[in-house]
Amino acid sequence: MRVMAIGAHPDDVEILCGGTLFQFQQGRDQVSVCILTDGSAGHGKVQADKLVKIRKREAEAAAKVLGAKLFWLGIRDEMLFDDEPTRLRLIEEIRKAGPDLIFCHSRNDYHPDHQAGFQLAFAASFIASLPNVKTKSSALPKVPLIYEMDTLAGIGFEPEEYVDISRSLDKKLKMLMRHKSQLKWLRDHDRIDILDLVQTQAAFRGYQAGVKYAEGFRLAQRWGAMPVKRVLP
Ligand SMILES: [Zn+2]
Repeated sequence: MRVMAIGAHPDDVEILCGGTLFQFQQGRDQVSVCILTDGSAGHGKVQADKLVKIRKREAEAAAKVLGAKLFWLGIRDEMLFDDEPTRLRLIEEIRKAGPDLIFCHSRNDYHPDHQAGFQLAFAASFIASLPNVKTKSSALPKVPLIYEMDTLAGIGFEPEEYVDISRSLDKKLKMLMRHKSQLKWLRDHDRIDILDLVQTQAAFRGYQAGVKYAEGFRLAQRWGAMPVKRVLP
C-alpha cells in the first residue's frame, strides 16, 4: 500500500499518527508525509523567514527517521484556506504520491489551519481521481480511503479504530524530537511538554483499546471509497 499523511504544520503528523505511519513503514508499505504550511508562526523569537528554513530542516530530519518521502507546500502558517490554488497544488502532490490511504486532520479540530487541512485533503483526494481537472501529473486510478487523525489532547474526538503503537512509541517520540524548535516554543507559549502530552495521549488511547499505547482514527466516509476489511495495521 501507499500511505500519505497530510498535516497542516511540520510536527502534526508525528503527534497525531507517527506511530501508525511507522507500523506501515515496517510492514513495507510506502509512506509519504505532506506538510501544508511553512510553520512560520511557531516561534516567539526567531523571525519568520529564518524559522521556515529551520522547520523545513526539522521536518526533513523527522521524515528521515520514518523513512518517508516529504512533500512541502509552504503555504504561510495560519493562512491556510480551502481555495482553488491550494487545492490544485495539493491535488498535484497527491497524484505524485499516488496513495491508497490518506490520513488527514479531524473535521472537528480546534485549529483553523487543521480545519482547512481537513477540507483540502478531503476535497483534493477525491478530485485527484478526475482526469478533467488537470495538473502536471495524471489522475489517480481510484479515490483513496481517508482517515481522520486524533486531535491534540483528544478534544472533541471519539476514535472508531485504534492502532496498537506499543512497539513504535519510541520511534514516534524520536520523530517528534527532531522538531527541536517546537519543544521549547510549546513549553513557553502553550505551557505544555509536548513529549509528555503525546505519550500520555497514547497511553489514554491505549487504555481505551486495551493495549499499552495506541493512536485513534475515524474513517471519513464517502461513496465508492469505503474499506470492506480493516486496512489499518
Ligand atoms: Zn498543527
